[in-house]
Amino acid sequence: MVEEQFKKSGASDSRFFVEPVIQQIHLPAGIAGPYEMDLDVRCFLVGAPDRLILIDAGPEGSAFAIDQALQRVNAPWSDVTDIVLTHSHPDHVGGLDEVVSKAPGAAVWAGAPDIPNIPSADPLRPLREGDHVGGLRVLQTPGHTSGHISLLDEDGGVLFVGDALGTLTGAVARAPSQFTSDAAQAEESLRRLSETQPTRMLFSHGPEVPDPVAQLRGLLAGTSGT
Ligand SMILES: [Zn+2]
Repeated sequence: MVEEQFKKSGASDSRFFVEPVIQQIHLPAGIAGPYEMDLDVRCFLVGAPDRLILIDAGPEGSAFAIDQALQRVNAPWSDVTDIVLTHSHPDHVGGLDEVVSKAPGAAVWAGAPDIPNIPSADPLRPLREGDHVGGLRVLQTPGHTSGHISLLDEDGGVLFVGDALGTLTGAVARAPSQFTSDAAQAEESLRRLSETQPTRMLFSHGPEVPDPVAQLRGLLAGTSGT
């Protein structure tokens, strides 16, 4: 079923595709600092021959934007096999119940330590280091939250880093400290991500940047970024 959808969508690589779902959110003054702030938040549809995986459910009200992304890849909601949550923050899980109601057959996964903090009408399945969902390998990258995970597509060379790292004005940047539960652990997770070899890194906040691993190594070495 999903494979047919790929042919219809004209994807060049029928084994793997990534379709971003980009939304804008508004943070009132006092949430992320003294000033109000607009920022993007991204979920991703990841296609594989026998799976259609949604990485993160976005903030409350995300079903419409995800629906549009499904239309772009010519897939119905019923094709969604898995929903993988990178962490428990509301801009990543607020849309979960509405998404699950549209894709009731999908398995919902999250890093085990974050599961108690994710509001969900249905039980969530725990993920730990080395687990796989489709072709995505789970990397435990705690710090931003205790159960934060990143996902590596080893064949496609794509690393989904959630909020372990973001980008700002064309450069990688640490997640804001006020939203990070354990800064030392978050730094260790960044070191770990800097040792992976993806060709692309996809961020929940901020667009892609060139040479992301080199940029991350520079950030950790204190030679660039924030
Ligand atoms: Zn977050």
